[in-house]
Amino acid sequence: MNIRLKPGKDKPVRNGHPWIFSGAVAKVEGYVDPCDRLCTVYSVDGERLGVGYYNDKSTIRVRMLSVDTVVNTAVNKNVNTNRSALPPLTFTVKDLHSRIRQSIDTRKRNGVLTANAVDYTDSCRLVNSEGDFLPGLIVDKYGSGVCMQIGTAGMECWRGAIVEALSDIVNPTFIYERSDTASREREGLPSSEGLIAGTLPETLAITENGVKYKADLRAGQKTGFFFDQRENRALLRRYAAGRNVCDCFSYSGGFTINAALGGAATVVAVDSSEEAGACLSENARLNDVSDIAKFQKSDAFAFLRQLPPGCDGSSIDLLILDPPKFANHPSEVDRAARGYKEINLAGLRALAPGGILFTFSCSGAVDPYLFRQIIFGAAADARRAVQILHVLTAGPDHPINIAHREGEYLKGLVLRVQSF
Ligand code: SAH
Repeated sequence: MNIRLKPGKDKPVRNGHPWIFSGAVAKVEGYVDPCDRLCTVYSVDGERLGVGYYNDKSTIRVRMLSVDTVVNTAVNKNVNTNRSALPPLTFTVKDLHSRIRQSIDTRKRNGVLTANAVDYTDSCRLVNSEGDFLPGLIVDKYGSGVCMQIGTAGMECWRGAIVEALSDIVNPTFIYERSDTASREREGLPSSEGLIAGTLPETLAITENGVKYKADLRAGQKTGFFFDQRENRALLRRYAAGRNVCDCFSYSGGFTINAALGGAATVVAVDSSEEAGACLSENARLNDVSDIAKFQKSDAFAFLRQLPPGCDGSSIDLLILDPPKFANHPSEVDRAARGYKEINLAGLRALAPGGILFTFSCSGAVDPYLFRQIIFGAAADARRAVQILHVLTAGPDHPINIAHREGEYLKGLVLRVQSF
């Protein structure tokens, strides 16, 4: 199958951006078989740009797998007159296998998985979709097993090959699937969940930086756990000693447990989900911090607003705000910005003088600079003087393709907050 782009739409592709939107496509030739989605992409002048996979149901029509290394060479410039002079370009099951292997090898060397007693870590992300040049594929390691998530129709065509590669490279005790994201619907795919191979233990416990968590692969959020916050949780632990901590949007308690283990005086974890609270309480027990970490089922906005203002003696002096994604699409950025402003304003007002705020956004459509601007607006409205202590992102098991800024979804700031 061949895709011809409209004039001027080739530059991002040449520079390695993996998405081609419907508005950039001028012509599609030879699309017949929905299970053969591989396509070669050409510029308006017929210059070969690379190979990807196609989906006519998605607004992201093509996801690129490889950029043509011959691009811009003399041979390729001549392509209009002599296209057959180019070496063939394709992406095979063998290429898929070696790309999965390369992702996993990178994890073996990036220091995330450790055997040390103090910061023992047996679980992390192994394949990070576009960030590992495998758009639509996520694989997370949970102890000795793996959980995979296929998000696109192109990757779906390689389901069997993916399972084979994971069995071969990782030799896991189980392969579980959690392909139940909203993106599948946009791709025209049904949800697909369940055990693919091996045995999934009834209760699965993982260890991250020496902290134990129960991971619920069947019903938990994402693939069951938020690995992207691992290093930020470890950082939080360093700030926690003696503080009164509030962890808003706590989920299963990643930040809460670390605060308690870091010596916090009190920790209240706020989440609107009952199940999250049950999991958090179990994690507190697993780590022997039930007497410090307390769960409060509540809307985080309402919870923060009812607290007395920080300058009037509020007891919270370390606050975490890690809300769910407020923008799923660039068209939702304005609404999301209002949400981030509102929650941060309420948080900044509630913090005691000299308090610390860990604040995050996991919306890919909100870029790091915009996020900082939103927090600045909230600080100005709250009449707080704010110092940025750390600028945070996801860990190295969530690599980002430098050409794909949408992949940089997690951003965070650690702020010291006081009154003017
Ligand atoms: N900080 C967590 C991940 C947070 S995920 C970690 O490190 O693992 C976002 C959480 O926000 C989910 O658990 C969801 O139940 C919760 N949530 C969504 N809307 C909420 C609201 N308005 N108030 C409180 N919690 C909310």
